[in-house]
Amino acid sequence: MTKQPNILIVYTGGTIGMVKDYKTGALKAFDFTQISKKIPELQQLNCTINTISFEEPIDSSNMNIKYYVEIAKIIADNYDFFDGFVVLTGSDTMSYVSSALSFMFENLQKPVIFTGSQLPIGDLRTDAKENLITSIQIAGSSINGKAIVREVGLYFEYKLYRANRTTKISAEQFEAFTSMNYPPLAESGVHLNFNKSLLLKLDNEDEKLIFRKGLNNNIAVLKLFPGITEKIVRSYLKIEGLRGIIMETFGAGNAPTHPWFLEVLKELDENNIYVVNVTQCKGGSVLLGHYETSSVLKDLGVIDGKDITTEAAVAKLMYLLGEKLTKKEFVEYFEMPLRGEIST
Ligand code: ASP
Repeated sequence: MTKQPNILIVYTGGTIGMVKDYKTGALKAFDFTQISKKIPELQQLNCTINTISFEEPIDSSNMNIKYYVEIAKIIADNYDFFDGFVVLTGSDTMSYVSSALSFMFENLQKPVIFTGSQLPIGDLRTDAKENLITSIQIAGSSINGKAIVREVGLYFEYKLYRANRTTKISAEQFEAFTSMNYPPLAESGVHLNFNKSLLLKLDNEDEKLIFRKGLNNNIAVLKLFPGITEKIVRSYLKIEGLRGIIMETFGAGNAPTHPWFLEVLKELDENNIYVVNVTQCKGGSVLLGHYETSSVLKDLGVIDGKDITTEAAVAKLMYLLGEKLTKKEFVEYFEMPLRGEIST
């Protein structure tokens, strides 16, 4: 008989852990250690489930790097005792948080599956039960004693995605996430089907888990728009301690070619502030040099974000800034896939 998988649920907050107070109509957090009572179906899953909850569950809008480290530490501390991990957070910032975790863990050999829901667990038509039950199933899925998923995933509405490829696209549809530049890793219907060729593979399975927690959040996101003024863009140069900017450009990575704009980029580079070019489009890739409007950017030290999402770029910038890297190494690492976040 094969051993029952041992799953750890880490509950941080969000709608999935809320119940409606039927007298007042307000949503309030419930005691997540009582999860089996709320979802008796969990007993049908052939696995052992343990839960660790944040003492004070938070709305995911209040997520920050202190919480990223807290979640990652729970997983790292319990890594040897469990076969898989399910992390419950609010969906609003789930793509950012899960992307960050994907970078914080190197040589991950066990599934870390993020999920949440649009409706609270006790609501009629809730999506919470399916999301949670299938996430647990995925976290416990193995072949010949080896976990099938060995990366950070995000499961929502019948699809498992690579977490650092996701974006939240709807505030009300159950299909709240998409992954425009990478297909789903698994789909659940009558069967739970894994797209095995798409899953991350480790180069060396003997490597131990490395947990990196030195994130640096002295960064900014600059979304370009037609008519953006010099005063606004120049103001980034005056931000004390700023180390990097994710610059959301147009289409395939295009930006204005006004001399003042290029001059600010030059000054940012001279001030050792990294600028990463990502596209505002939900899908597709930056192609530096494809149009004249982007060919100068490379010479001004702008990093090519290729087809990375803004969410993953924010996480990667925080992560790489926390490592001691030379400028050359920084650019090299940013432009290559570290956890499958960029297509090759
Ligand atoms: N506001 C909630 C949160 O992100 C929404 C959700 O749970 O989906 O925490």
